Amino acid sequence: MEELSGTKISKEILQELKQEVESLATQNIHPCLAVILVGDDPASAIYVKNKKKKCDQLGIKSVETVLPQDTTQEELLKVIDKYNEDPTVHGILCQVPLPPQCDEEQVIRRIKGQKDVDCFNPCNVGLLAAGTPRYMPCTPYGILQILKRSGHDTKGKCCVVLGRSNIVGRPLSIMMSLKGWDATVTLCHSKTSNLEKVCMRADILVAAIGIPHFVKKEHVKQGAIVIDVGINRIDDPTSKKGFKLVGDVDYENISDVAHAATPVPGGVGPMTITMLMYNTINAARLQSNLPKFEI
Ligand code: NAD
Repeated sequence: MEELSGTKISKEILQELKQEVESLATQNIHPCLAVILVGDDPASAIYVKNKKKKCDQLGIKSVETVLPQDTTQEELLKVIDKYNEDPTVHGILCQVPLPPQCDEEQVIRRIKGQKDVDCFNPCNVGLLAAGTPRYMPCTPYGILQILKRSGHDTKGKCCVVLGRSNIVGRPLSIMMSLKGWDATVTLCHSKTSNLEKVCMRADILVAAIGIPHFVKKEHVKQGAIVIDVGINRIDDPTSKKGFKLVGDVDYENISDVAHAATPVPGGVGPMTITMLMYNTINAARLQSNLPKFEI
């Protein structure tokens, strides 16, 4: 079974993005991402730190607002408004989860569509569904880049997506069905009947459900491409941290039947942040009236 390395592909894309940032600088355009972190969730703090590090690596400017755990919704919206109105800031993201007194839905809607580089605002989701995307949701676009850059065309293929979340499964199913990607898509969820049978039809099977090692060879057609989006922590007494990360796919179990699959870690994971950088660059281009940078 071929390993589809997101680590390798994201390195390749980051190289292209770095060149684009340099080229924009010669036109006095300096992409800038604003990141808002509310509260003291350690995992969120790590994600924010990694985003800043990636911006630094590419020469993208980043600004950050860290707010305390007891921040009110009004205070948070004020910070978003400030970045919405700042012409030097092109992309805004608010790290989730938010503390319970903050309304995530309202926060997402408050970020201006042009600056919504996560592509979570319903106005951008609507544009995507209409086939005229402004931005591409990061994880789904990362998956499509893995497929494209490893030579696995989606055109005319039967694609089965497991999981209908707003950040992965549903947008991915829309994107795969758009002109250009041209797949025939089935979107499955926890209420889907005969799941194994449905999965067995897939030329490309994507698992985004959050259940460790759920996908076994009984779900995989001979020769299928399998994309594992899951990032699940399981106990591992042999590891220093006491846990390890595993995907939604039992990689070893499917290795005799699948033609290729993404590993966890090192598969879809590194692509998500890379696509965030891509969207930030395109936000700067869009706000400077330049056409999209295609990758
Ligand atoms: P989620 O946790 O919001 O929802 C899970 C989805 O799986 C639901 O739509 C549910 O209907 C479906 N589901 C649950 N049990 C099922 C079953 N038995 N059969 C079929 N469908 C079932 O989903 P999410 O936020 O997309 O996260 C899914 C996984 O992907 C998690 O492990 C998460 O950590 C990971 N993730 C990874 C990245 C990345 O960058 N690689 C990004 C986002 C999420």
